[in-house]
Amino acid sequence: MKTVNLKRHLARVVSAALLVSSAVATMPAPVQAGQSLLKATFESGFDGFAARSKESVERVSTDAYEGDYCLLISNREESWNGPVYSMAGGGWEAGGTYEFSCAVKQNSGSAIKMQMSLEYTGADGTAYAQIVTQSVPSGEWTILSNPSYTIPAEASGMSLYVETTDEDKYDFYVDLIQSSVPSVYRKGDVNHDEKISINDVNAMVDFLLAKSTKDVNLDTADMNGDGKINAIDLALLKQLFVSGEYTRTTTTTTTTTTTTTTESGGKLQRIKGQWTHVADTSWINATKVVALSFDDGPFGAYTQQGKAAAKIQDELTKNGFHATFFYEGDHISSNENEVKEAEKRGFEVANHTWSHPHWKGWGSSQVYDEYLKCKQALDRLVGEDREYATRPPFLEYDNTILNALPGPAPNCGHDTTDWNGASTQNIVSGIQQKAQSNQLDGRVVLMHENYDTTAAAVEQLCPWLKQNGYAVVTVSEMFKFHGKELKAHKLYNTVWD
Ligand SMILES: [Zn+2]
Repeated sequence: MKTVNLKRHLARVVSAALLVSSAVATMPAPVQAGQSLLKATFESGFDGFAARSKESVERVSTDAYEGDYCLLISNREESWNGPVYSMAGGGWEAGGTYEFSCAVKQNSGSAIKMQMSLEYTGADGTAYAQIVTQSVPSGEWTILSNPSYTIPAEASGMSLYVETTDEDKYDFYVDLIQSSVPSVYRKGDVNHDEKISINDVNAMVDFLLAKSTKDVNLDTADMNGDGKINAIDLALLKQLFVSGEYTRTTTTTTTTTTTTTTESGGKLQRIKGQWTHVADTSWINATKVVALSFDDGPFGAYTQQGKAAAKIQDELTKNGFHATFFYEGDHISSNENEVKEAEKRGFEVANHTWSHPHWKGWGSSQVYDEYLKCKQALDRLVGEDREYATRPPFLEYDNTILNALPGPAPNCGHDTTDWNGASTQNIVSGIQQKAQSNQLDGRVVLMHENYDTTAAAVEQLCPWLKQNGYAVVTVSEMFKFHGKELKAHKLYNTVWD
């Protein structure tokens, strides 16, 4: 949930406005939740965008994403060449959190990575930060979006631009570049009544049938953030509604252990042939999320041998957090209670194969067998026939492996190197640095549950992350929170892969 932080942010904007109002005659009104700060459609001009360097930026009327015109960027000499917009006086504040999105298209013939970025003046001069980085397939309009990006606290003189990450110099198109103050309502709460119910589905159906625009708000009805309300949004809303994830209307923010017994945790479920992350994210009271994840157990938390694992579980629970545990099948029979405890606490129980093999080059059936034996052992303990996310042992994978696994493969968006003897301080500072450079949100972090160094690091990190606006969540919850689908046969280091 973003409500609390946003209110705090708005309070700060208002008090800042009051502070200087006597000195400045015409203060702009404080920004409101849901307010649009930028909407560039290029229908009647460049809407404030210009070339960053010598590249060509022109309005073209072929193939716009929306309306009749979009921008074509060509003759690029550097990856950072692209359209730029000065954010001065536009209502954005350093340290504030905003939604950013933009439609992009490229016709290079293969997928390339594109990003929305920020250039700003920081403590040490000119600095750059990525708002969103995403792979963009060739030949189709793709939405780059970050629903909650926090501008660095020390930033001034900000400008927004669109670029590619590789050294390629392909032409690209942009359209519908938007930024707004995040809504105080959750996506899916179409009618803003603070709950997600059949009424939201009905309001959207009426809107799409052109029966009524009553009770439909773009900020919460535009489920995929593409600036439009259409059948895709209805499908996404129905998916949320039908799977029952948003039926709770209150937010649990208590830090005691008593709340965890009621939590469903994150897990994968097959709905109409598709793997879906059935995760309750209504408890998340933060603007940023990270998926700490622990391999190689169970070592028997709450026994002498599993001391580190128990410390990790307890610290997560103490902070009201969740994490994912990738369990190794041949460790399970002697440590069943740990798996049951993880499930009970709302953690995500996941698969790390039966015997932790070096399996690159194996055939499909051998790979599936390693998955299946572990799955069956886990099924017995969680009490249902379930599929599991699988982390490849030694992070080794190839296409045969990914295709043989029935679910997704969360891999490694940040390696703590605890497996290679990293000290507690190394583990802690590695994660803190990622957070401080705004690169931790949406990442899968690789850890192991059997090291005392890791357990001590988790004890330092949980309170620190909470203070810095993060919630520690399961892999499935992280994807859900960011509105991203977890797909089978796909490897993920971050939610943006
Ligand atoms: Zn492992």
